[in-house]
Amino acid sequence: MPVAPNGQPSAVRARSLAARLGRYLWRTLLVALGLITLTLCVLFARPLYQYLVSFPREAAALERLRAETRPVALDDGWTEYRAVVHAHSYLSHDSEMPFAEILAAAQTAKVDAMFMTDHCINRKADFVTQWTGLHEGVRFIRGWELRNGLLIWGLPESATVNCDAPLTETAARVAHEGGLSAFGHTEMPRPYEVAEVRVMEIYNIHTDFLDEKLLWLLPGLLLNTARWPDLAIREVYDQPSAILNLWDQQNRTRKMVGFGAADAHQNLGLRLVYTAQNRLWLRQSSRKSFTDPKIELNSFSHTVLEWIFGPLTPGRELLRVDLDPYPRSLRYVNTHLLAEDNSEAALLGALREGRAFVAFDLLADTRGFVFFAAADGRRATMGEETAFTPGLRLKGEAPLPARWTVLRDGEVVATLEGRSLDWPVPGAGNYRVELAIRPGTEWLDWIYANPVRVTPPTP
Ligand SMILES: [Zn+2]
Repeated sequence: MPVAPNGQPSAVRARSLAARLGRYLWRTLLVALGLITLTLCVLFARPLYQYLVSFPREAAALERLRAETRPVALDDGWTEYRAVVHAHSYLSHDSEMPFAEILAAAQTAKVDAMFMTDHCINRKADFVTQWTGLHEGVRFIRGWELRNGLLIWGLPESATVNCDAPLTETAARVAHEGGLSAFGHTEMPRPYEVAEVRVMEIYNIHTDFLDEKLLWLLPGLLLNTARWPDLAIREVYDQPSAILNLWDQQNRTRKMVGFGAADAHQNLGLRLVYTAQNRLWLRQSSRKSFTDPKIELNSFSHTVLEWIFGPLTPGRELLRVDLDPYPRSLRYVNTHLLAEDNSEAALLGALREGRAFVAFDLLADTRGFVFFAAADGRRATMGEETAFTPGLRLKGEAPLPARWTVLRDGEVVATLEGRSLDWPVPGAGNYRVELAIRPGTEWLDWIYANPVRVTPPTP
């Protein structure tokens, strides 16, 4: 037997080395498993608690509160339409939604009007490409989202807008041709000095999503979306305080209408597709591919997949996960418009004038909410103005008991609870209200109404 320089037979030494290596690998594996388990415990602790404890409680509390919904008796004289403002179709590079599926989702979400905002195609916004008109009760309004942050609607079918044109030029053209433009994604700096743009997003789901830590959010979405879809997605919500301040600031010097943007894409999801040539393709619902080139299967993996999913035929979608399906994002946030009728002109007019309120209908239906200033038979609703007179009162009613926060030029001047509001106006200013509901122990933001402008008394 060969003997190593230290006197130990080399076979014995090799065995002890192998044993040490084995122990080392085994320990490393245990530590790795421990770390993975610990990480999963940390990441899934809160979602699991929500799944088992808090979400069932909150869902039941919401159900109980929704059961208290009563029709609103106070009348503002307008017809209310629930709109989704800011939505994408398959025409956008990051959405796959055909118009027919958007229509079905709008019907499910009880939406009356879809204000589309597709991304430009080859730097052009060509109005003829989108759906328009009334489709089975849902009004489609053509519009585009330009890279400079401008959202535009209401141009004639023949219109094509150059998406690279300066914002001021496009805003002037849209105003000149009777359309409407608005500032989207207001978390970014926007040129608020442009006089033609008097409408801005005060809430946008994607904007809200930006400050979330995906590592903390994703486990909750993955675990809770199937069982508690509404509560899981609502986890994204944070009060858009900075944007609300900006909006109030704007309204001190000029009229600026606020609306809520669904920014619906249905692009937070996964698709696993079996394709021709025995390949597997994993991609996002935004069309971005995770596996490009596609993964080629061998006979073993093919058999395993058939065992899991059944017969594999080219084009078959094996797995589909959607964290932001259209029917849900269309209820998450809405803009309710007060208009004469549901024609495109009337609905665009309502948004232009600010006869509108932002509503988180996912929590509870806000339909019927009214808010106006009234005195001596005069009435000015959201977006309208009236001169101050002694006896002028802010009046409002909601379909559910709520907390009403009254703001004058951005400053909180009153907080009241109940189904209705009847509050004496102390003087000129921009008055708006925010409503929150409390299904359990926590107040949840529910409505942001556009301001009523009270001008100084006429001499
Ligand atoms: Zn968008």
